[in-house]
Amino acid sequence: MPGNYLVVGGAGFIGSHLVSGLLDRGDHVWVFDNLQTGHRAAVPTAARFIQGDLADPLVLDAALKCQQHWDGVFHLADLSLVGESMAAPMRYLTVNPGNAGRLIDACLRHGVSRLVFSSSANLFGTAGPAPIDEHAPIRPGSAYGESKHTIERMLHWAERVHGLHSACLRFFNAAGCDPEGRFGEAHSPETHLIPLAIDAALHRRSALSLFGADYPTPDGTCVRDYVHVCDLVSAHLLAMARIETGSVRYNVGLGRGYSVREVIDTVSRITGQAVPWRLAPRRDGDPAYLVASPTLIMRDTGWRPRFSTLDEIVSHALAWRLAHPHGYDRQPQHSLPVA
Ligand code: UDP
Repeated sequence: MPGNYLVVGGAGFIGSHLVSGLLDRGDHVWVFDNLQTGHRAAVPTAARFIQGDLADPLVLDAALKCQQHWDGVFHLADLSLVGESMAAPMRYLTVNPGNAGRLIDACLRHGVSRLVFSSSANLFGTAGPAPIDEHAPIRPGSAYGESKHTIERMLHWAERVHGLHSACLRFFNAAGCDPEGRFGEAHSPETHLIPLAIDAALHRRSALSLFGADYPTPDGTCVRDYVHVCDLVSAHLLAMARIETGSVRYNVGLGRGYSVREVIDTVSRITGQAVPWRLAPRRDGDPAYLVASPTLIMRDTGWRPRFSTLDEIVSHALAWRLAHPHGYDRQPQHSLPVA
């Protein structure tokens, strides 16, 4: 039976893919987004759109009044840049938890019983090369990671006191895009490695800055676990079903890390163009390794990533960037064949 879902942050990169995944299986979807970083054009027409900010409890109340019964709420609307959070830590530490607190409160008032929250691997800021499981100590590497941890604790208390069931999904590095090319990654300014490396290879921007080559990793550059955004969507859907019986916390990645240099090499090979890059100082808040152990989510929910290679992730991201050189701002161009 189709369900009613509210996707907070549904106009963003992961949110738009999630909305599409819910619609594809027949659910009714409402998107709540302030369009600060999201795009109206990224919201599928079959979803109902409410422009609003989590800072405004009245609009949030109005959004939750749209339906008598909600099957669940997804929260993907945090400020989410590690570097920015280290330049303005108080902003991250007040805005993200403040917004989440208002959302949780509103959910409780409107009888929502299930909430899936996009948390982050940045909770584990000082991890080593071993894949990180859910028992790893929480040591946020940045104010961004700390803000996610605070929200996880809020959800703990929301369950303990009010019985709200939640899933905290600690994403590792979301990347790739819809293989059918309907949605993609379009941040302004773009700060993420894969889209920046692709644009550098396509000569759409100057050389990529490689943030630090003196980390204690095999080639000196940071190692990350890149997970396809469509696989994050399936993790959300499975987690929402799973929390019918109680709250969970899952680390979501592939369990395989790639260094920044390996990403640059992959982008060069797939675009057929060298990625121009220059060495830059370390970016504050970046840990050397972040690689997930996805064993728990796989065992508990049956989650299996469809896209298990960096090549697939980069190929999908490249196809979207070729077809949408200006992101969502202008009409798509003809897609060029991808090597
Ligand atoms: N990175 C880089 N140059 C850039 C952007 C990112 O060297 O212009 C590195 C960054 O230091 C990190 C990795 O690429 O080690 C992934 O960064 P990204 O911002 O894509 O994701 P994050 O790990 O912050 O979620």
